[in-house]
Amino acid sequence: MPMRISVFICLIFNQKMDTENTFEFEENLSDTNQQELVCSACGGHLKFDPATNKLKCDACGAEFDIEASDEEVNELDFNKYVEENLGSIETQTLHTVECENCGAHVTFDENVVSDRCPFCGTILVVTNTVAATQIKPGSLLPFGLDKQQSFDKFKAWIKALWFAPNDLSKRMTDIKELQGIYVPYWTYDTDTNTSYYGQRGTYYYTTETYTVNVNGKTETRTRQVRHTRWTPVSGSVHIFFDDVLVMASKSLSQKHANELEPWDLEHLVPYDEKYLSGFRTETYQVDLKDGFETAKKQIDNKIYRAIRNDIGGDEQRVTSKNTSYSAITFKHILLPVYISAYRYNDKVYQILVNARTGEVQGDRPYSVWKIIFFSIFSISAAWLAAYLMGFFEDM
Ligand SMILES: [Zn+2]
Ligand SMILES: [Zn+2]
Repeated sequence: MPMRISVFICLIFNQKMDTENTFEFEENLSDTNQQELVCSACGGHLKFDPATNKLKCDACGAEFDIEASDEEVNELDFNKYVEENLGSIETQTLHTVECENCGAHVTFDENVVSDRCPFCGTILVVTNTVAATQIKPGSLLPFGLDKQQSFDKFKAWIKALWFAPNDLSKRMTDIKELQGIYVPYWTYDTDTNTSYYGQRGTYYYTTETYTVNVNGKTETRTRQVRHTRWTPVSGSVHIFFDDVLVMASKSLSQKHANELEPWDLEHLVPYDEKYLSGFRTETYQVDLKDGFETAKKQIDNKIYRAIRNDIGGDEQRVTSKNTSYSAITFKHILLPVYISAYRYNDKVYQILVNARTGEVQGDRPYSVWKIIFFSIFSISAAWLAAYLMGFFEDM
């Protein structure tokens, strides 16, 4: 069954790839790509080492520099690519294992026959391999923290958890390491012009008289009442958006992935397979077009705020708006994340570490009993404090 595992990690880069050749990957394997990951001292396998930013030999520890690329990180024309349907895009074919539980497609480690899905902990069967021809990433952020550093951050996070069940920490000690994964993202740039119709609300006050009954007598009093005067307005706002980030993975919790931001996108380096060695890579599950629809939602929120700002006054109503997008460009990038997926009472909990900043985000179980006891304790303490204060005031 363990077929030729080396096949799973092969990457083929091709411009205008001929579909007939897509699956003849063994013949197409570029020798240089493979040779560059072989240690010239001992023939061992080279992996990217985040601590030194170099390739390091698994076997003898020899280190090799990664030549800095003089390529620029290019923005690509979105409409051209959508119209041509990948026609002239630089693509690559990645061989991945599909997780039947969460749908993730991840590359597989060499020489591994069976392993767990890094996203949900399900046991993966290596025979479920899929070859996907996709847009080749243009750039990536290399892993900045190594496994041990990220594991230390992870342990510190666990330790600081409030109200975690006691056996959770015991369960956590079962987690020996985190898995490093390059998660696929899209970033979009676009110029937007939005015309809108709405209303500006301006406050004004009137004096009202009213009567009250005081000890059987009717008294007349006055008060200030606030009103809003609405006037119709229209206008347009013009905003340029740079690097709107959209995750192209469906296996990661969107909420926690958002919490890993910000990413230091100014340090993106041109895509080089060498940075991938020793880590897994997920292929994108959200395509270029759908990704832009998600980007539009982020863009829309900002435009809405800009319109309200443009309308001014005390309150604003936006009755209609129409946005045109121009000069849309995109980048396909990979961002480095360490993941631990653990099961606790049959639920999957994901913990993510931003492998650039060390920021930890994730799901955690709560102990209902600890919360109940703490609540009872807090209420009692509040009563006691109130009682003591009353006691001292009486003295
Ligand atoms: Zn070596
Ligand atoms: Zn999975």
